[in-house]
Amino acid sequence: MLCERKSKNTVDYAVQTNKAEKGSWQMAKITCRRCGRNVEALSEPPMGGSLGQTIQNQICPDCWQEWLAQQVLYINHYGLQLADPEDRKQLIQVMKEFLGLSTA
Ligand SMILES: [Zn+2]
Repeated sequence: MLCERKSKNTVDYAVQTNKAEKGSWQMAKITCRRCGRNVEALSEPPMGGSLGQTIQNQICPDCWQEWLAQQVLYINHYGLQLADPEDRKQLIQVMKEFLGLSTA
C-alpha cells in the first residue's frame, strides 16, 4: 500500500529520481533544516560530494547565502587558510552547526 505522505525523505527521493530518470526536472521544493520554510532548493549542489547533496536537499538558498556571508567573517576572524585541510575541516564543522546539519 502506497502512502503519499510528503515527508522530507520522500521529497529528497523525488529529487534524486526526477533528476536521474525523467530529464524534465523541475525545481524541487525542500523543507529547510535551518529556517523550516518550504521553498525551492538550490539549483545545484553548492559544493562537491555528499555534503553538497545534503545541503541542496536540506538547506534553502537564503540560509545558504547567510552562511556564505558568515563564512567570510569566520575565515577572517580566525585567519583560516582554505588550502590547509585542517582549517577546511574546521570550517565545514562550523558550517554544519550553522546550518543545523547533523554530522551523522
Ligand atoms: Zn532556510
